[in-house]
Amino acid sequence: MSETYSTIDFDKSADGLVPVIVQDLHTDKVLMLGYMNSEALERTKKEGTVTFFSRSKQRLWTKGETSGNFLFVNEIIADCDGDTVLIKATPAGPVCHTGADTCFGEKNSQHARIGEADFLNYLQKKVIRERKLNPTEESYTSSLFQKGINKIAQKVGEEAVEVVIEAKDDDSDLFKNEVSDLLFHLLILLEQKNIDLDEVIDVLRSRHQ
Ligand code: AMP
Ligand code: ZN
Ligand code: ZN
Ligand code: ZN
Repeated sequence: MSETYSTIDFDKSADGLVPVIVQDLHTDKVLMLGYMNSEALERTKKEGTVTFFSRSKQRLWTKGETSGNFLFVNEIIADCDGDTVLIKATPAGPVCHTGADTCFGEKNSQHARIGEADFLNYLQKKVIRERKLNPTEESYTSSLFQKGINKIAQKVGEEAVEVVIEAKDDDSDLFKNEVSDLLFHLLILLEQKNIDLDEVIDVLRSRHQ
């Protein structure tokens, strides 16, 4: 267990409790949020498993004390002003009392929504880049890279025209499909030109200020 925190100021809040975010060391998933008083933090450091102060039980609560699903501490990090704690941990089992891996699981629709923009980055940086660097025979994306920039740019043009055509209709499923085609081919074009989607987002951001 490594401890990269300096001091946590429990006196900042009237009840002497600080919020503690627990994050999975390996997956980076946010697992749960609890509260600690100084005694809970001391026990957590001493035992190497996360102990909170339960506001409902009004006592120290070692996560996993009945279920066995302990949180093994890897790192304890205080925030910039010492009033919030981040713990990177390795869970022994499902963290949520519902049996889900995390208290902020897929059932929470907010979760899926927030990640959508990142999926475009994933598509470019992982999937499309992989098809460019390690072409496979079956891959349509690889074949586009082999045909080169003119073919790719032409595909973007075609898909843009298809978006225009579907825009006039009110079949929203078809329209979404064509917009998806356009975005996908735009990502391929960016990748062909070695430009990250992030760089385009930077331009958009700079216009926004
Ligand atoms: P455990 O600490 O896993 O042995 O669970 C003991 C009790 O703590 C459960 O019966 C729940 O009431 C509560 N509990 C367990 N996990 C959570 C959680 N992630 N968030 C809130 N309450 C929990
Ligand atoms: Zn803070
Ligand atoms: Zn939960
Ligand atoms: Zn299309």
